Amino acid sequence: MRVLVTGGAGYIGSHTVLQLLGAGHDVVVVDDFSNSRPAVVGRLEELGGRPVPLLAFDVNDTDRLAATMSDEGVEAVVHFAAFKAVGESVAKPLEYYRNNVGATMSVLEAMLRTEVAHLVFSSSATVYGPDAPVPMTEDLPTSATNPYGWTKVFSEQLLRDATVAHPWLRVALLRYFNPVGAHPSGRIGEDPADVPNNLMPYIAQVAVGRRERLAVFGDDYDTVDGTGVRDYIHVEDLAAGHLAALEWIQEHDRALSVWNLGTGHGTSVLELVHAFEEASGRPVPYDVVARRAGDVASSWADPTRAEQELGWSASRTVAQMCEDTWRWQQANPEGYPAV
Ligand code: UDP
Repeated sequence: MRVLVTGGAGYIGSHTVLQLLGAGHDVVVVDDFSNSRPAVVGRLEELGGRPVPLLAFDVNDTDRLAATMSDEGVEAVVHFAAFKAVGESVAKPLEYYRNNVGATMSVLEAMLRTEVAHLVFSSSATVYGPDAPVPMTEDLPTSATNPYGWTKVFSEQLLRDATVAHPWLRVALLRYFNPVGAHPSGRIGEDPADVPNNLMPYIAQVAVGRRERLAVFGDDYDTVDGTGVRDYIHVEDLAAGHLAALEWIQEHDRALSVWNLGTGHGTSVLELVHAFEEASGRPVPYDVVARRAGDVASSWADPTRAEQELGWSASRTVAQMCEDTWRWQQANPEGYPAV
């Protein structure tokens, strides 16, 4: 299959591109490098053993996207390209709605123009909102607590409405829990442009000496040790989930599918800190500070639907997530080179 991957130079996108190549698919990447580095492309070519065509433009350019899809003979789209910093979305809501919801509209419109039916969309467990019970199932109502989360809820709704109007579409909404880890080669991984917002890259930067101490956001939640509990999933398992979803929507006649991609297991902040210390052999000093606004105590998936329908489940352990993150962090302490 010839697959267009938007945001294919980003963290989850790059790991998925590599697995698509490994499965024998042809890939065309569209990425404007607004939150990624061109250096990732050379690494993908090195690991994938073949050229990775990359077009550097913003997917909000619908005419160019549609032209690319027809020129390249694209048969399916995996749409990752989006802004993802929760705090920034609170400060810049218009930018987030325009960029993220706009990009989903642009991808959809380009697909309708060129009659491409298959889309895998990068959604998030954040759409379950603040009051969702754990484990989270796909049929829970959707909600959000910040503009970033709403851009995922609105994009999902847009896609849902489009599948009603155009029932020949084949759309998969993948709701990720907490992606962490890196390719086992240590050549590609997560490279936050600024101070990491997320826990795992922050821990990794403390362990490597790039930051002094981790701030643990609250230890008075109703959880195993009082710290927040999340469903961390290895990015390689997550990428495999995209391939499974893409293959499934090719073979089945259902216009809209929704799958959680998580492990079904929760890990607390302190459990992750200790697992990382174990994997790296380095201390991760921390201070407990106030809760972060908008955080929930616990979030983990019920991954049953993906297991039953896709035959996919996450297999990598928290120890592997830490080992692979550490290998990437040690080999690339400052992330990708700037060139
Ligand atoms: N967290 C923390 N310190 C940090 C970043 C995150 O204690 O510097 C906690 C956060 O409160 C949550 C967990 O780690 O309980 C995961 O946070 P992350 O931002 O990675 O994911 P999300 O909150 O989006 O699930």
